[in-house]
Amino acid sequence: MKVTRQRNEHAKRVARNLCLANAKVVLEDLNVRGLVKNHKLAKSITDASWYNFRQWLEYFGEKFGREIIAVPPHYTSAECNNCGVRVQKSLSTRTHSCPHCGHVEQRDVNAAKVILSRVNGRGGHPQTNASGDISSTLVGRKTSRSKKRR
Ligand SMILES: [Zn+2]
Repeated sequence: MKVTRQRNEHAKRVARNLCLANAKVVLEDLNVRGLVKNHKLAKSITDASWYNFRQWLEYFGEKFGREIIAVPPHYTSAECNNCGVRVQKSLSTRTHSCPHCGHVEQRDVNAAKVILSRVNGRGGHPQTNASGDISSTLVGRKTSRSKKRR
């Protein structure tokens, strides 16, 4: 129980700091339940307490009047943020290297830029659904329309 409480305190602190420091917080709308069914990922996902973290994020977002925006997670780690081409890679591949335009970037940095560009391209809606199901805060499922950067 002690570990659970510390984890919760940590998630709360990080979420609070994020909301204080940023007018807008954009996150990937991960399907946590779906991911946890995958046994390889289950441990890291539950350790990260993603769902708990997200609840705190939405709580502080509302409290401080910040925009919390969730975007669909589809292909965020595969897509090249420079040219939009999808580059499939395994979870262990830490570098995004685009065969189409030659863009090279750390995997998570590239994914974060893809996530941001989806919000900016769509003018995403603020999400302040602190209590509901995680899937109910999804912003626009039509990822095919976001391919205009090509
Ligand atoms: Zn590229």
